[in-house]
Amino acid sequence: MPVFKTEAIVLGRTDYSNSSQIVTFYTRNHGKIRTIAKGFKRSSGKRSPKAVDLLTHYQILFIKKEHSSLHILTDAILQNNYPPFRNDLDKYYKASCIAELLNEFTEEDASSGPLFDICLHALSGISIHADTIVPLLAFEIKMLKILGYLPELRHCVHCKNNIQYISRTYFSAKEGGVICNECQEMLKGGILVPVGAVLIARRLADFNIQRMDRVKIQSSICIEIEKMLRYYIVFILNKKLNSWKYMNLDENVLWVP
Ligand SMILES: [Zn+2]
Repeated sequence: MPVFKTEAIVLGRTDYSNSSQIVTFYTRNHGKIRTIAKGFKRSSGKRSPKAVDLLTHYQILFIKKEHSSLHILTDAILQNNYPPFRNDLDKYYKASCIAELLNEFTEEDASSGPLFDICLHALSGISIHADTIVPLLAFEIKMLKILGYLPELRHCVHCKNNIQYISRTYFSAKEGGVICNECQEMLKGGILVPVGAVLIARRLADFNIQRMDRVKIQSSICIEIEKMLRYYIVFILNKKLNSWKYMNLDENVLWVP
């Protein structure tokens, strides 16, 4: 059976036996994979030298099983455990949101180096910076773009008018993007989103991730973008993310039509 080496982020763990766990990773070369990790579980409060932690970056070695989706983890070498996630709940839940999005939106064994890169960049941004919302928003929008889910944010999806010249804009998950006031009256549905928030969301989709550290966005605009993305993500996944319960962006953000 072939042995592979790749960078990986731990998305989730579940107990399998007294000493083993099933660990889900998002990897640079193999996309999402599930592995059985024998001897990696902490027992009796003792730290196993081989234990793997959630939301941590490793270089892993695994044996790929050809006729099973459960592979065998043989080694995990720590690259970055992002210490701020362990003592700052805001950072922890935003990082958890990234792990949950990757878990929900990706298929097993579907490789995506660019998605792995933006994940690492977002985790690093959330870990280092006081402003944790911009790295999360950038990740969400870029993930949607890479996976082919980016909604139309330049023109009204119905009449094709450029939204820069529209005073009142709505976002319709069903229509797949922004709609102008006149089209919304006809099509119905959608949520009201300020034009400024839509334009900044569109810019985030195209922005070079290496330069994201310099981006500053007004918090009221961030809330509007996150509200729009949550509404859209619920439409795609047909459910809310667990991590949203713990992220107090704004009480209205939890509202989903
Ligand atoms: Zn229109």
